[in-house]
Amino acid sequence: MIFKSKYSFEQGPIRPPNEANSLLVRVTRNCPWNKCLFCPVYKGEKFSRRSVEEIMDDLAAMESAHKKVREVSEEQGFGGIINRQVTAYIQANYPELFSIAYWQYHGGENVFLQDGDSLLLPVDDLVKVLKTIKDKFPSVKRITTYSRSRTILRRTLNELIKLKESGLKRIHVGLESGNDRVLEYMEKGVTGDQHIEAGKLLKSAGLSLSEYVILGLGGEKLWKEHALDTANVLNSINPDFIRVRTLAVPKSSPLYKKVARGEFILLNDDQVVREEALFIENLNNIESRFFSDHILNLLEEVCGNFPEDKNLMLAIINRYLSLGDEMRDIFKLGRRTGYFRRLGDLENSSLAVPVKQLYNQLQKENMSVDNYIQQLMLRFI
Ligand code: SF4
Repeated sequence: MIFKSKYSFEQGPIRPPNEANSLLVRVTRNCPWNKCLFCPVYKGEKFSRRSVEEIMDDLAAMESAHKKVREVSEEQGFGGIINRQVTAYIQANYPELFSIAYWQYHGGENVFLQDGDSLLLPVDDLVKVLKTIKDKFPSVKRITTYSRSRTILRRTLNELIKLKESGLKRIHVGLESGNDRVLEYMEKGVTGDQHIEAGKLLKSAGLSLSEYVILGLGGEKLWKEHALDTANVLNSINPDFIRVRTLAVPKSSPLYKKVARGEFILLNDDQVVREEALFIENLNNIESRFFSDHILNLLEEVCGNFPEDKNLMLAIINRYLSLGDEMRDIFKLGRRTGYFRRLGDLENSSLAVPVKQLYNQLQKENMSVDNYIQQLMLRFI
């Protein structure tokens, strides 16, 4: 018999980058579709819905852990406050409580429902989960989740409104591309029109919508179509958030074999940046907030609000593209090795010197910067 502590609960493998400080509540396991060629996350894992009872047990364990964390804070003389010292003490002495302490330390306001497609759960089950989270944790202000466009289209407007009224705030959707050829090749199982329909439906229900785009997903063959059609689809949806991440292909993704056989040709960093410029130039009549908040993106600082920051974002891209070959290589190396975050870091000699040394070393060894970077990027997946 497996011993289960009264504080233990289940968590899935991933969440969106901006949910790093959220409490992760697992309502389904894995992904019901699981076919996308670029996605390694749940391959080999079977999808299942968790029962309301199982999820309630987890929420009860989270509540007990929350109480215990406060007790530890009091014992340590911090009066129930979860500060940095309490969080560090808990990490060292009560590792099973750490995720709850960490969440509380970051305000205890955000919850993310895992895994890949929560709207597949019966609406009444989700409503019970949402209400219980709000009851047990009154500090919670935002509950969000992932869902697929095809699944969203199986929900009625009234069902989505009911979820919103029960506390669901935002849906993160993997749009990936607006181009049907790219979507079909990548076996995304959805068309650009279905993405539009699903996005509009969520917005009419008053739910906040975050759409994810994969830069480079069209490869060398379809990069232009990918940029233009993705912009067109997003122009039709006008989502609250657009988030980009750059394609990287680990061995565990089905796309890897196609890349190895030369059937899919990856873009290098400079080509991705040119594609991103074309994409952003064609985003029009939207009021979305744009983020590049993923470690895989070369230009993290390309972010802002549409329409007012569009030219600023394009100016950052143009500044990068107008650097000479050597400086672009040095920036790429600095970014991928963690020395640089912004183009301005090129002028910071304490950051730039070690990167230039690495660049010189690669030159000596006759190694291409792009190949070196492709290997590094796999570490971030
Ligand atoms: S739908 Fe999402 S989680 Fe599922 S395989 Fe595709 S990208 Fe991965």
